[in-house]
Amino acid sequence: MRKRFVAGNWKMHMNIAEAEALASAIVERTKGTDFRVLVAPPFTALHTVSKIVAGSHVELGAQNMAAAEKGAHTGEISPLMLADIGVSSVILGHSERRHDYGESDSLINSKVVLALSHGFEVILCVGETLEERDTGKAERVVGTQLESGLAGVSEDLLARVVVAYEPVWAIGTGRTATPEDADAIHAHIRRAIGDMYSSAAAESLVIQYGGSVKPDNASGLLGKENIDGALVGGASLKAEDFAAIVNA
Ligand code: PEP
Repeated sequence: MRKRFVAGNWKMHMNIAEAEALASAIVERTKGTDFRVLVAPPFTALHTVSKIVAGSHVELGAQNMAAAEKGAHTGEISPLMLADIGVSSVILGHSERRHDYGESDSLINSKVVLALSHGFEVILCVGETLEERDTGKAERVVGTQLESGLAGVSEDLLARVVVAYEPVWAIGTGRTATPEDADAIHAHIRRAIGDMYSSAAAESLVIQYGGSVKPDNASGLLGKENIDGALVGGASLKAEDFAAIVNA
């Protein structure tokens, strides 16, 4: 049985005081949920938020991670540093990292393998651009991102991977895939995992949807058979909206 999982990606928002208030409100407002709940604050607020969520049901995520443990990597954050702060999950392959910062499938794969070797859960983001969707390439693009992102990941390690399907054209745009369209790609992802691993692996894979998820569209999306949760950007910045999605 797949456990429902809602994660909030705060991106480059929130100073320390704001992060503290938001994290406390999310802990309070999502108490008693059956879902897994995770927040991914900016790096500067991770330590503060880690103290707030410690001992609660809310898990701590990081928005990115270096592909190396230590050394001359100016501006990067090591898996050792994230573990030290109490991070349990790392978001990798987010479309903003792929498209705005030029992260390739092979770099993302190095990060995935390193993160898993350090015991983290990985939320691996995949998704097509509008042009790719309009030219009928969505399934192929997502399939390639999955295959390259998971190269060298064994079925045992796959148990610590969550896939987030995030169509690029729906992120931060207010446009959402219809529940039917999203579910169709989620089913495709599950089939692809079945081909790469096994039907048991496909059945147990948690697949989140991301792209302008809001309180008013969450229940339609989360009601679909293959949609096991959400990766939420904008709406995760207000405790009330985020909690409404968790409680959808
Ligand atoms: C995201 O950043 O992963 C995301 C889905 O953002 P938004 O919910 O704002 O579209």
